[in-house]
Amino acid sequence: MNRALYADVIVDISLENLDKPYQYRIPEGFEERVRVGSAVMIPFGRGNRRIKGYVVGIGTEPKYDVAKIKCIREIPDKQVTAAGQLLELAFWMKERYGCTANEAIKTVLPVKNKVRAVKERTVRLAVDRDKARAFLAELRGKANAAARIRVLEKLVSSDDGKLDYSEAVKKLSVSGQTFNSLAKEGIIVIESERISRNPDMNTGIHAVRHRLTDEQQNAVDTVTKDFGNGVRRTYLLHGVTGSGKTEVYMSVIEHIIKAGRQVIVLIPEIALTYQNAGRLYGRFGDRVSILNSRMSAGERYDQYKRAENGELDIIIGPRSALFTPFDRLGLIIIDEEHESSYKSEITPRYNAIEVAFQRANNAGASLILGSATPSVETYYRTTAEYGGSESVKLLELSKRVPGSSLPVVHIADMREEFKKKNYSIFSEGLKEKIQERLDGREQIILFINRRGYAGFISCRNCGEPVKCPHCDVSLTLHYTGNGGANAKLICHYCGYESEPLKTCPSCGSKYIGGFRQGTQKIEEMVKSEFPDARVLRMDADTTGGKDGHASVLGKFSKHEADILVGTQMIIKGHDFPKVTLVGILAADTALNTGDYTASEKCFQTLVQAAGRAGRGRTPGEVFIQTYRPSHFAVLCAAAQDYKTFYNKEISFRKLMGYPPAAHVMSMMTASDDEELTKAITEDAARNIRLYFKESDVASVIGPAPHTVAKVSDVYRYMLYIKHYDIRELKLLRDKVSEYIGRKYGDRKYSIITDID
Ligand code: ADP
Ligand code: ZN
Ligand code: ZN
Repeated sequence: MNRALYADVIVDISLENLDKPYQYRIPEGFEERVRVGSAVMIPFGRGNRRIKGYVVGIGTEPKYDVAKIKCIREIPDKQVTAAGQLLELAFWMKERYGCTANEAIKTVLPVKNKVRAVKERTVRLAVDRDKARAFLAELRGKANAAARIRVLEKLVSSDDGKLDYSEAVKKLSVSGQTFNSLAKEGIIVIESERISRNPDMNTGIHAVRHRLTDEQQNAVDTVTKDFGNGVRRTYLLHGVTGSGKTEVYMSVIEHIIKAGRQVIVLIPEIALTYQNAGRLYGRFGDRVSILNSRMSAGERYDQYKRAENGELDIIIGPRSALFTPFDRLGLIIIDEEHESSYKSEITPRYNAIEVAFQRANNAGASLILGSATPSVETYYRTTAEYGGSESVKLLELSKRVPGSSLPVVHIADMREEFKKKNYSIFSEGLKEKIQERLDGREQIILFINRRGYAGFISCRNCGEPVKCPHCDVSLTLHYTGNGGANAKLICHYCGYESEPLKTCPSCGSKYIGGFRQGTQKIEEMVKSEFPDARVLRMDADTTGGKDGHASVLGKFSKHEADILVGTQMIIKGHDFPKVTLVGILAADTALNTGDYTASEKCFQTLVQAAGRAGRGRTPGEVFIQTYRPSHFAVLCAAAQDYKTFYNKEISFRKLMGYPPAAHVMSMMTASDDEELTKAITEDAARNIRLYFKESDVASVIGPAPHTVAKVSDVYRYMLYIKHYDIRELKLLRDKVSEYIGRKYGDRKYSIITDID
């Protein structure tokens, strides 16, 4: 005979309830259908009220007298409520990212029970004035009625028979008690209304409705026809910069809303306050709202509430917007899907694309990923080569919208400038172009690539970075011990170390070193070179405060400045029609991050930066200043040729066994005891090697100290494990943490793992 199965059920989803679930028996024959996260109907309490609960655990051990355990009554076919969908998602996240159930649930239900909603309360007469006057007269004869009398006098003499609750408490010096007792007598009613703290989204951008190009129309039709036919899948909208991706999103959104469904739009945090949100607002009005990290917890809570109450059709936000409690979710859009901000840096370290896929699945929704420079991983899933179950359908926009064309790109070889004794940050060519544009009253963006800016070493004469002889990635400069005086070059992947070099290993030049020029310094140089230009700077320092980005971007879009100088944040999806020149300084620093995705990041950054030029009627030009003009990432970016880039890059990944061709799990051990940190990591490495027995499907790299080996007295060591099968890595992760836990359980350390 089969053993009975029991489900732990909570009746209201909150963290507190998680710890005290009720146990119910799963009816025979339904074992398959009840999963952790499932919604079930249960008899509850003495009267066996029929209510909905959620399964948070399943087991074979009864916790009480078996005879007293009630049975689940009904298992609805599908998760219908948002709460159920989100809970299911949380348990999936727990499995996938190896966090606890509480951490996962806290992530999907981020603000519940934490912030009290702001309420506006009014006190109103419940009877006509004559009755109220009569009651007042009665009160005058009684003791302890002074407060009630004050309230009634005021109400009777007011125009509309109403008082503001909190104002009355102050002005009439009465308490809540006074109101409550009057309400009990039936003389007044207390009405409360939640005030929504809604963000102001009206940027004045009006919604011009464009006639879609054939490519745009084709993309819209593909998605909406699938949707109409009940087909749900993932799409990649690969459109060159300025090809009108947002217009495609809006048309699809319109269709989904007409079908009675709701939409989540993820966009990178940085682009949130300004243009994209404004365009959606212009088109869909009050039915759209926004979430961002500059809003107060209360403001965000209110948007979740509005979503839950069905007041919204669309929510726009960063990755956490995925957890908006929509019951009728029909579409998730992830714009600029290649952005690294879609990966969470805090536990659970989730990837928004994976979670979106899962959420869409639970809800029966479609998923659109959009980018001009898709991640290699996503693009791989559109190819025939990809064998997994999560294949992606490719939709292409190969041209810019009518009236605008892709910019002309020049590469300035900074080694040549160096040889010509031009030691300034501008190549001769860029300097000339800037002057030309200033004379023509057009706008200029100067972009400084901060990624990989500090920490790598390269040669100003030949442009070569110093690389690891084993891994084909750049070595990174570390300062260790002796107050930072002992410097070393280290490989992140295999731990290879070398002394800092005095001369270039490729050409023997002694002009070898790091580059560390801040945006502020560059702003000064721009001003001294072009004293008549109005210059704005945008970086972490100038954009503090609630609407820092929006205000700098707003000024620039109103042409209150000629030149915008800035880092990564100025190239994210903005649309400034008057910008006709983009200068990219230090283009190749991104190649030197010591990461296997370095070429990809570099390519993406260059194409995105170039994409800011010539979005209006006047054609644009781009200058890429680089020490490595022949690197394929630079060349493909200059040609704005994604496919050639992708083909080169994927063969490199295959050759080296990097994702998506293989999977990599990183494991970071941290503790305040350096010996212990090292010992644990070495122990783990030894065991993993034994476990795989030097098979050729897996390889173990390290241990090696983390790039920043020591942070506030905590030592960190890294280990990388490559495998072709992601399931093996998950299994391994659990085994290792169990083994280490058993052996070092009494010591203080932490291990953070991250797959891909
Ligand atoms: P992307 O996100 O692909 O870079 P956008 O969606 O920002 O491009 O569109 C760029 C500009 O082109 C916007 O100003 C938009 O209003 C305009 N646009 C979009 N579609 C069309 C169209 N079919 N015809 C004319 N202009 C369009
Ligand atoms: Zn050199
Ligand atoms: Zn190496």
